[in-house]
Amino acid sequence: MTSAEQVLPAPRTRLEARAYAALHGCACPGDRTTESRLCYLGDDLIEELTTVCAECSQPHTFRFAVTETPKRPPRNDKAMFGYPFGTSELLNVDDWTAIADQSARLGTAEGLRIAVAALEEARRSPDVDSLTQGRLTARQASYAESLETIEAR
Ligand SMILES: [Zn+2]
Repeated sequence: MTSAEQVLPAPRTRLEARAYAALHGCACPGDRTTESRLCYLGDDLIEELTTVCAECSQPHTFRFAVTETPKRPPRNDKAMFGYPFGTSELLNVDDWTAIADQSARLGTAEGLRIAVAALEEARRSPDVDSLTQGRLTARQASYAESLETIEAR
């Protein structure tokens, strides 16, 4: 539940903002259209992201803090959500794991690439113990292997 006045922490990349919105909108598995605009809330510059679900037509609006101009992550698949710019303030290890599972289930190269990147974020979460980290690393390796298999075709 996102209240109208709540401003969320700044995302590190646009993809991270979209991943947050996808996870916190309605529960439909379908596509969403996304619109974003910069605006002021009081004296603060914020980014307003509105998603509309193609299935239930339900709009959701998310307001993110803007602390600096978002940077483009390095050209490295694992970095696409933004770990070179610190750990996420929006999503925790369970969220990243959920994103990885949903994306991997698509069975496409793009889905697996996102799954590998999301698990990279999960592994780097500050709240992860070493046992969980080992489990995440193993799962990431298996998604990376599936990705290689698909790409070799
Ligand atoms: Zn929906």
